[in-house]
Parts: sequence; structure tokens; C-alpha cells
Amino acid sequence: MADTTPTYEDLATPLARAAEHSVMVRHGARMRPPLPRPERTRVFVVANQKGGVGKTTSTVNVGAALAQLGQRVLVIDLDPQGNASTALSVDHRRGVPSTYDALVDGVPLEEVVTACPEVPNLFVVPATIDLAGAEIELVSVVARETRLHKAIQGHPLVGTLDEVGEERYDYVLIDCPPSLGLLTLNALVAGAEMMIPIQAEYYALEGLGQLLETVEMVKAHLNPRLAVSTILVTMYDGRTRLASGVADEVREHFGDAVVRTNIPRSVRVSEAPSYGQTVMTYDPGSPGALCYLEAAREIATKGAPA
Ligand code: ADP
Ligand code: MG
Repeated sequence: MADTTPTYEDLATPLARAAEHSVMVRHGARMRPPLPRPERTRVFVVANQKGGVGKTTSTVNVGAALAQLGQRVLVIDLDPQGNASTALSVDHRRGVPSTYDALVDGVPLEEVVTACPEVPNLFVVPATIDLAGAEIELVSVVARETRLHKAIQGHPLVGTLDEVGEERYDYVLIDCPPSLGLLTLNALVAGAEMMIPIQAEYYALEGLGQLLETVEMVKAHLNPRLAVSTILVTMYDGRTRLASGVADEVREHFGDAVVRTNIPRSVRVSEAPSYGQTVMTYDPGSPGALCYLEAAREIATKGAPA
């Protein structure tokens, strides 16, 4: 006779729905007053040389959430894979104006920006596969570590509201490739804040030492303003002791930099890119979307480090 005991999977949907509903009611996330815009453009580097930890997912969803909360956001896709471009539904076939043109050929950034068709106030610099060559091509280029910094700071919509006006980008989020090469180095020099997504899994903290050493090196020699302001725990599965153990350990290491809202592991989050969407539009009431919204609100409310 077949075992008819309900499994967790059977219960997951109503349970998740109930949780979702209670979060909605408790927080009324989208209904709360709009966020104030930062004094000057905040430039975030989303980096972790480990692949698959949620860099791209966090970049596009935090970006979309900030835009939904009334901020103007630019996402720069710095990964030749172009996953952020895909999720934000912008063309990134070879030949499309892209990060490569800005970085290697010095094309002004404003000439390679396109609007994300799904989310108002969200803009994207797409990455084409050409960017894979940039890692090597940049080696022989003058001031090779500071090219992205110059490109961003030279954009007419980056700065204070007074200097730039209402169209100003409030946030620039740079989605890094899973390595510590020249592309990531350019991002670390260009950003003032770093967002490190950490997957709530075994070995999560492995490799972080190397990342933090790189950050220290960059701070000492290239970008003294850089601060690890934001740690985001991703793919959190509250049912496992492992996940909560990792989250606790991350909080011990990084204290206040850790965003209070963990991002849950959720199928809706991983499905969204195949529809050219972020989970923020694909399933706005799902736990993943609500948590990204909450995380974005927290990041914006906390403000830039002094
Ligand atoms: P990275 O950019 O660091 O390589 P990704 O953001 O591409 O990582 O995420 C790696 C994989 O994990 C992707 O397939 C993505 O869809 C999936 N993923 C990321 N966040 C979640 C989540 N909260 N729940 C479920 N799957 C997720
Ligand atoms: Mg990625």
C-alpha cells in the first residue's frame, strides 16, 4: 500500500502562502511611504569570487526592489555570462552596446545604458560575451584598474541631486563575475560599498578570507573609500539547522553589516530569469520577492556608511 503520509512538499504550499500572507500584513511592504533618495549616488559592488552564491539574483532583485520603492537604479552587468542582462530582459547579443565598449573602448557609459522594459526607473548596461576578452585586453591598457570608476563618475546622472537633478541615479549596482580578476578589480575601485551575498550552505565562509584580503589591498592602494557595508544571506532554508548555523556564523563575523532579512530559497526566485523577469515582477507576493523588498528597504534606510 502506498504511503499517504503528507510530505513537507505537500504542506509547503499552504504553509508558504500563510507565511507570505502574514509577512504582507505585518509589513505592508509596498504600501509604506516612499524612501528618501540618498544624498549622492550610492555605488555598490556585488561580489564574491565563488560562483552560484546569488550575486546576480541579488543584484537584479535588490535593484528592481529599490526601483519599485521609488529609487532610480542602474545595474551594470560586469559578468561576460550576461545573466543579469537576461533577468532584466535586455538584449545582450554580440554587437549590442555594452559594458565592454565602456570599459575597453572608453565609450561614455550613458551611450550603453538601456531601460529595463519590465521595471520603471531601472536601467541596465548589458554584458555581451565580448567582455570575456576584456580581462586580458585590459592588461595592456592605461590605468586599467580605474576605467569603470571613470566611466561611472563621468556619467551625467551620477552625483548629488543638486548637481544632477531629478533624473539622477540613486543606486548603481555592479554585478561581478565569479573571479577576482581585472573586471572585479575595476568594480572594487569603482564602488564605495560592497555587497557580499553569502549562500547559507556548508563551506559558505570558505574563500571569504581571500575576498576580504583583496578588499584590504584595494583599500590600501586603490580605493580607500571602499567599505563592506552589506552582507546578504541568500538561499536560506529555515528548515535546516545548517542554514541557521551558517547565518549565525555570518552575523558573528560581520555584525551590523549583515542585512536582517535573509533571502529564502524559493523556486519562484530561480524561475523568474527564464521569463526575462526578476521575482519582483514575476511573483511579487512570493516570499522571495517580499524578502528582497524588505532587504532593499533596509539597505536604503540604513544609508551609506559615514
Ligand atoms: P551567482 O551570480 O553568484 O553565480 P546566481 O544569482 O546566478 O549566483 O544564483 C545561482 C543559482 O541559484 C541560479 O540558478 C539562481 O536561480 C539560483 N538562486 C539564487 N537565489 C535563489 C533563491 N533565493 N532561491 C532559489 N534559487 C536561487
Ligand atoms: Mg552571476
